[in-house]
Amino acid sequence: MLIAVFDIGGTSIKYGVSDDNGNFLFQDSYPTKASQGGKAIIDKLIATNLELKDNWEIEGITISSAGQIDNKNGVVVYATDNIPGYTGMEISKNIGSATGLPVKVENDVNCTALGEYWKGAAKNVENFICVTIGTGIGGAIFINGQLFTGSRFSAGEIGHINLYPNGKACTCGNRGCFERYASSLALEEMVNDAFHEKKDLKLFFDNVRNGDEVAKQVLEKWVDQLTTGLQSLVHMFNPEMIVIGGGISAQGDFLLSYIRDSLFKKIMPNHQRNLSIKMAEYENKANLLGAIKHFIVE
Ligand SMILES: [Zn+2]
Repeated sequence: MLIAVFDIGGTSIKYGVSDDNGNFLFQDSYPTKASQGGKAIIDKLIATNLELKDNWEIEGITISSAGQIDNKNGVVVYATDNIPGYTGMEISKNIGSATGLPVKVENDVNCTALGEYWKGAAKNVENFICVTIGTGIGGAIFINGQLFTGSRFSAGEIGHINLYPNGKACTCGNRGCFERYASSLALEEMVNDAFHEKKDLKLFFDNVRNGDEVAKQVLEKWVDQLTTGLQSLVHMFNPEMIVIGGGISAQGDFLLSYIRDSLFKKIMPNHQRNLSIKMAEYENKANLLGAIKHFIVE
């Protein structure tokens, strides 16, 4: 069976045609143009699907999307103003009626977790937490081999755990959220403050590797903030694994060793016993794979 697969991100929309085992026959991408709003995004998705339908024997459409997604009905239950007019968008209904095909939608971080569970770092791991570290921090919770999505499809908003009451203002309207202290953006801010100049994170990590003391102290402070959030998650869910995705995962084992050292000092002994921490394996492709998995399981 061939499926059209989409990943709607803040800057680009990746898509392709895959069989139901995740083997892609075709892949491409185009800019999201988020500021043009939810309706423009869906209209373009419809046009792209009609084009794909002309060229392939597609039997369904599946979508990984930013925002809190009703994954049963394919509706955006909440999205920030990054994509104006996206909240309330009935994606499955709109695209389904225009193309005549079944359409499934799932939140992008949940798709990352599904993709990593299906084929990547968390293969055969029944209890894990997926944390994506980028401009913000996203989360997905896997319990007993299933995604936990909460009562309104909105569980796993890890980025908005409170780390410091009355701390820095967050996009969610609160103060002191985890992602204001432990996202890539937060690290960039800390680096800029320490070096009084804008510095690319790749260059910053090179500095740490080369023994720059100031850079090392900045990294340790940021990792300390990250693991303070993770500590609560570990104590709450007792996971077998934490999978870390997002751009930061490119730092691989070097960064993992910092995270491990810091986290294991903060968690109770029995929680350490079978806990491993890994970087996501299918960085760019995990969301597409997860969307396929979401399509075929139900
Ligand atoms: Zn927040």
